[in-house]
Amino acid sequence: MAILVCGGAGYIGSHMAAYLKEQGEEVVILDNLQKGHKAAVEALDGKLYIGDLRNRSILDKVFTENKIDSVIDFAADSLVGESMTDPLKYFENNVGSTISLLSAMKDHNVKYIVFSSTAATYGEPESIPIVESDKTVPTNPYGESKLSVEKVLKWCDTAYGIKYTALRYFNAAGAHISGKIGEDHNPESHLIPIILQVALGKREKIMIFGDDYNTEDGSCVRDYVHVTDLASAHLFALQRLKNGGESAIYNLGNGKGFSVKEVVEVTRKVTGREIKAEVAERRAGDPAILIASSERAKKELGWKPQYDSLETIIETAWNWHKNHPDGYQ
Ligand code: UDP
Repeated sequence: MAILVCGGAGYIGSHMAAYLKEQGEEVVILDNLQKGHKAAVEALDGKLYIGDLRNRSILDKVFTENKIDSVIDFAADSLVGESMTDPLKYFENNVGSTISLLSAMKDHNVKYIVFSSTAATYGEPESIPIVESDKTVPTNPYGESKLSVEKVLKWCDTAYGIKYTALRYFNAAGAHISGKIGEDHNPESHLIPIILQVALGKREKIMIFGDDYNTEDGSCVRDYVHVTDLASAHLFALQRLKNGGESAIYNLGNGKGFSVKEVVEVTRKVTGREIKAEVAERRAGDPAILIASSERAKKELGWKPQYDSLETIIETAWNWHKNHPDGYQ
């Protein structure tokens, strides 16, 4: 039986598909290639259907032409800033796509889904580290759209018996150990790839968004987790559901926080490059500190991150970026 990876040409989705193939799983990828890269699927030798999840006929085709027993869903828009200015895009795509997918799963009798959720479902944290039972009060439409899907999933379990696991990631980072696939967004907005673009001379400097937060050095603190470790958690989650596990929600992070300034410093060490940095205004909607407790995932899924040091995460990202300075082009 095959696993359908929706959004499998994107950053996390492509690492998921690569990991599944390495574990001997049969994989089918569905991606509309709006943000995803055909070259990523080619690099991992994946089977690709090009189409949008909101298009029911492509879903019927994929489910009819393949023996699919489970789905991992990454297909979404994921920029916090953009979601603030265009919330409808986020609800239409992120919620609409998954509803269409669930409806097709129901009709094709597919009973397991692992859903890509986010730390943004929590909003401003009530305490650190964040645990799954903490309040979810998203401060942006991106987080709200993912939380809405979690609610849809719950009712689809009750009504149709579709079992789900929602994985709330903290800051996904790094690249595949082979260097064949990695992170390529256009325009790039994430911290580590932007710092590496400075290291490559493609940008003049990194802007540190705020150094007046209530943190040790004043810059924001985040929990960076390697993209392949995220992938392994998804497979554990799927196996648990297939073994009769109940629907559940898990945080995925390393439980360690690094400030923006620390990330810049570690990147200087890893790359041996100077990397000019300048403090700028705060970015709207950024909480000061986001750190996960992933104890539940470790205990219930048996998840154990392999690339849990920031140096290793940045080394793998650097390996990708220096060999692909223009991404997949
Ligand atoms: N950040 C920054 N400069 C940049 C991009 C990001 O200072 O050019 C900061 C951002 O404010 C946040 C952290 O780096 O505190 C991680 O941001 P990113 O966009 O990578 O991920 P997010 O936390 O938004 O998911």
